[in-house]
Amino acid sequence: MKYIILIGDGMSDYPIAELNNKTPLQIANKPNMDKLTLKGKAGLVENVPLSLDPGSDVANMSIFGYNPEKYYSGRGPLEAGSMGIDLAPDDVTFRCNFITEEDGKIADFNAGHITSEEAAILIKDLNRHFFEEGTFYPGISYRHLFVKTNKNLANLKTTPPHDIVGEKISNYINWDDNDENGALAIRNMMLESKEVLTNHPVNQKRIANNQKPANMIWLWGQGLKPSMPNFKDIYGIDGSVITGVDLLKGIAVFTGLNNIDVPGATGFFDTDYKAKGKYAVNALKDNDIIFIHIEAPDEAGHAGDIDEKIKAIERIDKYVLGQILDNIGSFGDYKIAILPDHPTPIDVRTHTRDPTPLTVYSSVDESSADDVSVYDEFSVKNGSLGVFNGYDLINKILE
Ligand SMILES: [Zn+2]
Repeated sequence: MKYIILIGDGMSDYPIAELNNKTPLQIANKPNMDKLTLKGKAGLVENVPLSLDPGSDVANMSIFGYNPEKYYSGRGPLEAGSMGIDLAPDDVTFRCNFITEEDGKIADFNAGHITSEEAAILIKDLNRHFFEEGTFYPGISYRHLFVKTNKNLANLKTTPPHDIVGEKISNYINWDDNDENGALAIRNMMLESKEVLTNHPVNQKRIANNQKPANMIWLWGQGLKPSMPNFKDIYGIDGSVITGVDLLKGIAVFTGLNNIDVPGATGFFDTDYKAKGKYAVNALKDNDIIFIHIEAPDEAGHAGDIDEKIKAIERIDKYVLGQILDNIGSFGDYKIAILPDHPTPIDVRTHTRDPTPLTVYSSVDESSADDVSVYDEFSVKNGSLGVFNGYDLINKILE
């Protein structure tokens, strides 16, 4: 038996006035998803526990079969995993954004999308200046990491900079002055980074070119290395992951799933859907289960772009799912599950924690199909799978 888990990131939505109160999933032309729903079983899954924010990392950890309340330790360490950084048990990994600070406020959480080349130069100088504090690791554009050995920092209350654009910085780093958990060192670094960065030649050039300077660092999303049991040890099968997103690659690293790099997988609208489908089919030779994650519908949700969201769903259906259905029969029996990790509704332009629509098709069990015949947020409520926790999905599919 082969298993495919197809994740359309942020694909589900709320009814939209411009679509006559329908959702993008209801409007999109997606014959393959509907065909599998007609012959399969539907339901709703809850991927985000109430105690955690509805991030893609949390929600996908659920889908991969791990209870995030038990295993989620922050975004930083997952990204470290995807970058191949070796973490010791007491190492705390922070996400380090380059931001633009103006008048004591966060003017831009991404420093005008600074280039990776410029950022690498700044990271090098930060490492020179703060060598006693820890280590910075250069990533992509404004997104970098900082690792410090002090496990008490894992519990520090930090704030994602994209949530507080325009707000006063001092309100978010006013940690208690009794320095039991090492917070002062973190605050001092963030403030002192302005001295290293403000007049840096990289920033002088950016300002001369009318670009926003990367004049401060923002540390957040920190945590200890997650301690997750091996996927094969729990579920007894080999698996691979296809994604353009670092956080998901990190989950794969810590669970012993294999990351398959697909050329042209960008994590954006322009991702190469056909290539993802093709690599998934190829991977079926050596794997029992393939997780295929596509970020584009989420990006469309964040952008509030209805047309792009519908297009993304249609492309997933045609190029990814269609290609899999054309080829998977040659590997014998199979099951396919389709779901988003969380909704990214056009009207709210960010993730919500609502349960997400699921359809599960089994090539050996068409006779037990339920009455749901199309795949969308509302029809699945009548499905025979009911509502359950996302981290039970893999067990249910393997039954
Ligand atoms: Zn997501």
